Amino acid sequence: TKTAAIAARGLSAGYHGAAAVRDIELEVHAGEVVLLAGANGAGKTTTLMTLAGALRPLTGHTELRGRRCAEPVHRRVRAGVGVVTEKRVVFNQLTVAENLTLGRGDTATALAHFPELEKRLGVKAGLLSGGEQQMLSLARVLAAGPSVILADELSLGLAPIVVNRLLAALRAAADAGAAVLLVEQHVRLALDTADRACFLQRGQLALAGTTDAIKQDPSRMEAIYL
Ligand code: ATP
Repeated sequence: TKTAAIAARGLSAGYHGAAAVRDIELEVHAGEVVLLAGANGAGKTTTLMTLAGALRPLTGHTELRGRRCAEPVHRRVRAGVGVVTEKRVVFNQLTVAENLTLGRGDTATALAHFPELEKRLGVKAGLLSGGEQQMLSLARVLAAGPSVILADELSLGLAPIVVNRLLAALRAAADAGAAVLLVEQHVRLALDTADRACFLQRGQLALAGTTDAIKQDPSRMEAIYL
């Protein structure tokens, strides 16, 4: 079996020394999208943020490309981990073009994912719609060519058409070789995007499998998060 791009091994993590997630085993390989789902408070963000290096494990550890990793976020980002959350990270006073060229961004790559940004290149990011800002935010992450993408509810509050665009861009990034871990409220749309899904219940993995298998018997999934 090939090495996972990112993994959690016996991971417990939480706040003020108290575990919010326990014994999490999770792997995402290059080329796949894995959905992390579960009810509010089940521990999705906690798991994702620990994989991002923003939270320290209480027990267990995270791995990048098969190697144990205890680095903070900025070092994981430099090592090819892209993090995108519901908070849109754009520079309002800079144009779309300027936002895309910040850091190591490759504008052509970004526009290939979101061609709709092309006609907005000269516009200040602060003047974009929420959906456009989130597309720009994800475009900036994709422009850096990450090998791992951690996406936490990036479609929160956005129109369905934008949700579809964001999910399609993540799917395309995986098809181009990235490993994508996705936390998403729109579970049904996300199940159509992802290859596998893991469901958390009160901080523990309660169900994992291919999205095809889960869609064939949705009652197990519904029992967990409804
Ligand atoms: P949601 O869909 O509501 O974002 P989630 O599945 O992402 O939920 P987490 O945000 O990981 O869940 O929360 C897991 C548990 O940790 C919850 O009980 C939550 O109240 C608690 N928690 C989250 N953030 C903090 C924090 N900063 N300090 C203390 N407890 C927290």
